[in-house]
Amino acid sequence: MDKNIYFEALGGGQRVGASSYYLRFCEHNILLDAGTGKEKNTEFYPDYYALQTSPFVQSMNQIDQIFISHAHTDHVGYLLELMKQTQNAKVFMTPITKILSEFQLYDRSITERKLTDESAMLAARSLLDKIIAVNFTQTVNFGSYQATFFPAGHIPGAMMILFESDNKKILYTGDYSLNNTALTSGCSVPDGLDIDTMIMCGLHAKHPEHVSDSNALYENAENVLLQTAVFRQYIMCCVPQLSKGIEFLKALNESNKDGIPIYLDWSILNIVRKIESMSVPILNRYNKLIGDHTPIEPHIYLTLNQKTNNNKYRLYHQQKINFSLHDDFSDMRKFIKKINPRQAVIVHCGKERSGELNSSIEQEMLLEPDCRTQFIFAEEKQLYKL
Ligand SMILES: [Zn+2]
Repeated sequence: MDKNIYFEALGGGQRVGASSYYLRFCEHNILLDAGTGKEKNTEFYPDYYALQTSPFVQSMNQIDQIFISHAHTDHVGYLLELMKQTQNAKVFMTPITKILSEFQLYDRSITERKLTDESAMLAARSLLDKIIAVNFTQTVNFGSYQATFFPAGHIPGAMMILFESDNKKILYTGDYSLNNTALTSGCSVPDGLDIDTMIMCGLHAKHPEHVSDSNALYENAENVLLQTAVFRQYIMCCVPQLSKGIEFLKALNESNKDGIPIYLDWSILNIVRKIESMSVPILNRYNKLIGDHTPIEPHIYLTLNQKTNNNKYRLYHQQKINFSLHDDFSDMRKFIKKINPRQAVIVHCGKERSGELNSSIEQEMLLEPDCRTQFIFAEEKQLYKL
């Protein structure tokens, strides 16, 4: 058996968006994530043609397994397209990721008229039904290697994946957080794993000055509640991303001491109900479904769909809500120190910012006396032998 391990970023290398990574491990052709990206309103996708020039994959039918770390579109948005090309691949994700992905790739695609005719809907449905749900700490055996899944924090359902053969251990982090968020606890991987290679989503690996504002979510929520309670305003909160909408609702509900009514539309309520069915409690008695008419009492209206030009919404103060669910530079250092892998392959990496010190996590880790990690900042469409 060829014991060599190979890696190639097909998207989401030294930039964010369209994450998809090829891993050749124990002669299996594995893909990690299948996302889309957006730049100036143009969508972009992983480049699977690049993979077909490698010695291992002549046809996408040779892909054996696909693992989806979590349900953000930059990690799952391209999955259905990919599944059409990879007839023999088995697809794995957690049950919550499956629910959130179905919502993004099916329900929302219908609302946004990306899926219009019946046959396209049926085809999408049957692909989604093929996805295999796996649970945290479960191990699946693939013959020459096995995979175990751990909570990654970040958003509900997000998983890290540990790949193990007789003598090698690889950890794919996906997006992760060390700290608790409104809906998830921080990541949880066992100590002392002795990882050879960690494939790591390192959004802030080149941003030494970046400190995450972990209070931003609750500060946003408290501000909006205050505006409604004190100034008797009607506030419409537009949240850019599904999971952020759910997190923001949770934060509002936790901070809502005055019982301000919080209205939702179906863009959020549908998926919140599904997540609640996976025993993640979110709703309370102040949450109501918005009807055809604007309620008379001052209230908050939470939606994913921005409604700017509609006269019906003229009474509202519109507020865009944004906050980061990612770890910052110092959390990244802590996590690398904890895992202390022999090698870290950094992907999903934001560009250097002008004005910040010209340094990366690699220089930072050199200062750590016990760190044994060698870094690769993986460029897209380059095959690396690990
Ligand atoms: Zn994410």
